[in-house]
Amino acid sequence: MTVTVAKERDAYLDVGSLLPGGSHLIGGEWTPAASGEVIEVINPATKELLSTVARGAADDVDAAVGAAGAALRSWRDTSPTLRGQLLYRWAEVCRVHEHEIDLLERLEVGRPFWGPSGIPGILTYVAGLADKITGQTLPTSIPNMLGMTLREPYGVVGSIIPWNTPGPLTVADVAPAVAAGNTIVVKPAEDAPLTALLLGKLALEAGIPPGVVNVVTGYGPEAGAALPAHPGVRRMSFTGSPETGSRVMEACAKNLVPLHVELGGKSPQVVLRDAPLDRAIPTIVRAITFNTGQVCAAGSRLVVDEKIHDQVVEALASAFEKVTVGPWYEKVDMGPLISAKQEARVLGYLDVGQQEGAKVVIGGHKLSGGTYDSGFFVEPTIFDGVTPEMRVAQEEIFGPVLSVLTYEDEQEALAIANGTRYGLVSSIWTRDVGRAVRLAKGIEAGQVGINTTWSRGVIGAPHGGYKHSGFGRTMSAESILDYTQLKSVVINGDV
Ligand code: ADP
Repeated sequence: MTVTVAKERDAYLDVGSLLPGGSHLIGGEWTPAASGEVIEVINPATKELLSTVARGAADDVDAAVGAAGAALRSWRDTSPTLRGQLLYRWAEVCRVHEHEIDLLERLEVGRPFWGPSGIPGILTYVAGLADKITGQTLPTSIPNMLGMTLREPYGVVGSIIPWNTPGPLTVADVAPAVAAGNTIVVKPAEDAPLTALLLGKLALEAGIPPGVVNVVTGYGPEAGAALPAHPGVRRMSFTGSPETGSRVMEACAKNLVPLHVELGGKSPQVVLRDAPLDRAIPTIVRAITFNTGQVCAAGSRLVVDEKIHDQVVEALASAFEKVTVGPWYEKVDMGPLISAKQEARVLGYLDVGQQEGAKVVIGGHKLSGGTYDSGFFVEPTIFDGVTPEMRVAQEEIFGPVLSVLTYEDEQEALAIANGTRYGLVSSIWTRDVGRAVRLAKGIEAGQVGINTTWSRGVIGAPHGGYKHSGFGRTMSAESILDYTQLKSVVINGDV
């Protein structure tokens, strides 16, 4: 197996000793694809081979659903307290291996170090919910009747994960699903499947029984498409693009399987005239350069009062100039894009914006020279003079590209903020509490941050979209209930 040697000691990882190549994880066993074929996983900063994984397809999904089905009865019947304890242990194991998990994700996604991983925190939060799933007792119209509800797991559930933040997204689905007594088959993205495999391995190490968490790797139209179409899958979740989400929904409709979807975004940063700019500017820069803009929650539109437009754009341009870009082992703000496909997409939008008449304030190009030549690096870019109907104001670019739009009054600000098909995240920057309240209520988005990004410092904030950004919520106390179905039980005492 290829060993990636980086220039800094703390950025070294022997991927081959962590994960066997060419395999996925089914029923607790490292298994090759039924076809014997593999997919190469590269480091997007260098295009070097990191590892290979199984190129799974329908047969492999069938085997994984079978393994999850075999593990179901005993897992469902395990005391919820024990299920919670095993999740705590998984959190602990992930804490011990935090460096490896983080570095593996950095290598396959190509991002720099972000700070402490959120994975143990998500697992710990959900672990505490495992034994707090309760039904209700119900009023009755006949004296000797007793009515109640039970919350039961669905059975075998499926989860399709994208490549941008594979670690947190894997546990955000797996943890509530298995805490509620389901078993799961995860299909990570072909571009970044390694972190999900490592998390599956660590779940076994923590004592979660084989078959409870299965990870099938493969391409979307092959392994991905087979999962919601499998008759043994009782519930699905999907995180990714709206186009693929719609395809997964079609498959779920044919299979009569419920699902939740978390899709794209075109999230607005609404900056009012009295905004605390010293706080707003660095946050706005971070919100669009974090993970090279490859996050569904990226703050990709600046909606700014025309009276302060020049001042804000000037401050943003000088902050963008200071954004450092480089490979994962350097102390930089931003890494490369994940793949040649994403690079072509982002460069395409840089052309589209200019053709539409938007003005490049800073950036606008592919980065070249030195280490940049070996990866998919682009400049963080600001488009000014963007109008609401332009494609760069409407479409998700999934890169470090900020579109600047101006407004005259609060009504127009709201109309622009709400004027896309998306509704995931938004931020409002103002010291005027009245305006903040009106805008927070008026904005069509699943998350609103006032003078902050949406989830900063909040534990268990539900995450999910309005409109084409999806439906269903993850990361919260309710998300565990989404992995249960209600059963009414009526007992006749007149016997
Ligand atoms: P991207 O185009 O950025 O890769 P996608 O939304 O297509 O984003 O991918 C998100 C996840 O969906 C990945 O795991 C991918 O393999 C999977 N996927 C892609 N196409 C399909 C499909 N037709 N059915 C099910 N899953 C798919």
